[in-house]
Amino acid sequence: NKTDEQLHIFFLPLMAQGHLIPAIDMAKLFSSRGLKSTIVTTSLFAPFLSKSLPTSDTQIDILTIKLPTAEVGLPEDVEGVHMAKTPDMQNKFFRSCGLLGPQIVDILEQRRRRRHRLPDCLVADMFFPWATDVAAKFGIPCILFHGTSYFALCAALCVFLHEPYKNVSSDSEPFMIPNFPDEIELTRSRVADFVKNDDGSVLATWYKESKKMEARNYGVLVNSFYELEPRYADHYTEVLGKKAWHIGPLFLYEKEAEQRACRGMETSINQHECLKWLDSKEGDSVVYVSFGSVANFADDQLMEIAAGLEASGQQFIWVVKKEKREGVVREEWLPEGFEERMEGRGLIIRGWAPQLMILEHEAVGGFVTHCGWNSTLESVCSGVPMVSWPVSAEQFYNEKLVTRVLRIGVEVGAKKWKRLVGDFVKREAVEKAVRNVMEGEEAEEMRSRAKRFAEMARRAVEEGGSSVSDLDALFEDLRSQRAARDSTKKN
Ligand code: UDP
Repeated sequence: NKTDEQLHIFFLPLMAQGHLIPAIDMAKLFSSRGLKSTIVTTSLFAPFLSKSLPTSDTQIDILTIKLPTAEVGLPEDVEGVHMAKTPDMQNKFFRSCGLLGPQIVDILEQRRRRRHRLPDCLVADMFFPWATDVAAKFGIPCILFHGTSYFALCAALCVFLHEPYKNVSSDSEPFMIPNFPDEIELTRSRVADFVKNDDGSVLATWYKESKKMEARNYGVLVNSFYELEPRYADHYTEVLGKKAWHIGPLFLYEKEAEQRACRGMETSINQHECLKWLDSKEGDSVVYVSFGSVANFADDQLMEIAAGLEASGQQFIWVVKKEKREGVVREEWLPEGFEERMEGRGLIIRGWAPQLMILEHEAVGGFVTHCGWNSTLESVCSGVPMVSWPVSAEQFYNEKLVTRVLRIGVEVGAKKWKRLVGDFVKREAVEKAVRNVMEGEEAEEMRSRAKRFAEMARRAVEEGGSSVSDLDALFEDLRSQRAARDSTKKN
């Protein structure tokens, strides 16, 4: 009986594009290798998921849950992290995520009552630390999906364990990340509030729980590939003692062009028009500017970006999360006459961009990014060097990986971890960093290093490649776990 043999994985991703996209990629990848997957999410994202999944794929189910918004005082329609637009709303959102455990218990109880096989594993987001206990209750392994680099996993753990930010006298005094393979300098201002402020806030409490989860779960799935950061992959497993499987870059397994372009979202620009625009440009002559799905810059910051891009003299595609306001003479966040002046030279996409399609186009030669891990990896795999502009989350760690270890990026100079809005960066810094990533010998060197990593990434996801081998090792492991469970049941 096929369903008796088939491994079945439950994915519990955070309700955010940056977390759902890799979960979908994983489910599709697992399905292509004969596994069954169930992705659990809120109804807001169900259509997005359906659009991302081929109808022919019967091995992936979507299960919807209800975010307990009323319990935490959130409006009912705030079902995704991108809709929580203020730190206060974000706090409530994460508190609400902390209350999801009982719904998953119910789902699993029901399966048991109906004599359906329990899933063989929960792959849970770092934002759901309760998943470890839920999995333990049902005697199945819980694997953490962090959605970041080995480098950031190591850095976060070393900073958490050794608290080096306590030994400096100011926010700007540098310290080294302790117990680390390379000498990497950091400052207290770059460390997340929820790490350094032990103030009992929602996120500080969650962070401690998530670190406990990291210590207790069965292992960690990493969307990276060994050749990109071998010292950090080894450090995480051998020195820090974690069990981990590197199975990325996940989006490289997706072969369908439309899916690759928009990642299941409706793009705010006609993809053919976007391609036509890019086709008319020379190789490596356009810089792509985008800050992911969560960061939300204030108008004065957008104004500086516009001015910096204009002064850089470079061609650009800039993604801004703003609606076009018809009939308005001047939008507050844009310098007067900007779009007219930039006609032919710069393209503004308001809303959702076909990011992967843009990055993979040969006209694109640089990426101004907030260093979200998905964006970073997409840039690496497209052979595109970066201007790093971290905002929050673990982005300041990814910046160090990009600029100091891989040496495929230049820092714009954002120094302060600040949720949603980021540290203020002036136009001159934007201009300089954009020039440095696009022009000159150093830019060329960064570009050729990035292209070498892109080549390595492609090999990692081929049969016999490092990521595919780790994927097989993961499935083997889950199969033997299942066999052990079955034999205990029989005895
Ligand atoms: N993305 C996209 N179009 C956009 C903005 C984002 O396709 O206009 C995709 C991007 O390619 C990446 C993900 O959304 O896969 C964003 O994830 P990331 O980790 O970079 O940042 P986050 O949104 O989590 O801050």
